[in-house]
Amino acid sequence: MRPFRYHRPADVAEAVALIDAAPDGAYLAGGTNLVDLMKLGVQRPDLLVDVNRLALDTVDPLPDGGLRIGATVRNSDLAAHPLVRQHQPMLSRALLAGASGQLRNMATTAGNLLQRTRCVYFQDTGRACNKREPGTGCAALHGQNRDLAILDWSEACVATHPSDLAVAMVALDAVVEAYEPDGPHEVPVTELHRSPGDHPERETTLARGALITGVRVPPLPFATRSTYVKVRDRASFAFAVGSVAAALDLEGDIVRDVRLAYGAVAHRPWRAYRAEEALRGRPFTAELAARAADAELAAARPLHHNAFKVPLIRNITVRALTDLAGPVNR
Ligand code: SF4
Repeated sequence: MRPFRYHRPADVAEAVALIDAAPDGAYLAGGTNLVDLMKLGVQRPDLLVDVNRLALDTVDPLPDGGLRIGATVRNSDLAAHPLVRQHQPMLSRALLAGASGQLRNMATTAGNLLQRTRCVYFQDTGRACNKREPGTGCAALHGQNRDLAILDWSEACVATHPSDLAVAMVALDAVVEAYEPDGPHEVPVTELHRSPGDHPERETTLARGALITGVRVPPLPFATRSTYVKVRDRASFAFAVGSVAAALDLEGDIVRDVRLAYGAVAHRPWRAYRAEEALRGRPFTAELAARAADAELAAARPLHHNAFKVPLIRNITVRALTDLAGPVNR
């Protein structure tokens, strides 16, 4: 591991100034992803700026009925928070579907959104990877790509984003609050993560040196009827093979509104706008849910080993929505 300096800043402005002045520096919060990548030699920061003692660890209700979640709120605390469980159960379920209890006790809200892909070639410094080392190629494109993207990938990178929380945040139209070297900045979570294009090493739309300070979740009354369904290779402590965050607003059997987002299908958490459009204003049935998923997945381009993800995502869309609709609409 490369030797590194360690600094504990007094406030957000000092933290950002330190990283702005250190091209190879990195923020340290829970460290559940970063420290692993440092041990593997994938990330080699020469400075760690520890943000754990900054006052960014509260969950606060907002006057409009929304919620502000501090960047260093631990995943366990957020999942168990009474307001989250009551108003946005999909957030709790997404968090509890991720990692292990010990990791959730350390992992933070911002760190979860910014975690790196679990593509095995990215984590292996002996293999070609444009994300880790731009211009070297993508070993996954014609390699073992079962767990990788079916939507919006490029020849340069077919990785998926691993976060469960980000999928729910995208469905809820959450907004990231950040502090950049030139001052405060906000970005919708739907625009936080980039498509891979020719530069998969650029993962977010934040400026270099930006520190996420919190996430605002706007009010969405029908999110009380929401869920997160995750398919994984074992019952605990595994990343998604495919997942769906869903919220459903029915008036009688008519879909008044709906939110859908998919995980483990693309380089970024995937908001399923086409599927939502196919559902709104129509009588809900399982067949309608399947057709809506098909509308979203019409753009899918499966890789050699992951064509199964297309029916998998369709099936969990139907399952999530029929569970939310209740027995009369099955
Ligand atoms: Fe690297 Fe992306 Fe290719 Fe994986 S899919 S090897 S992360 S470039």
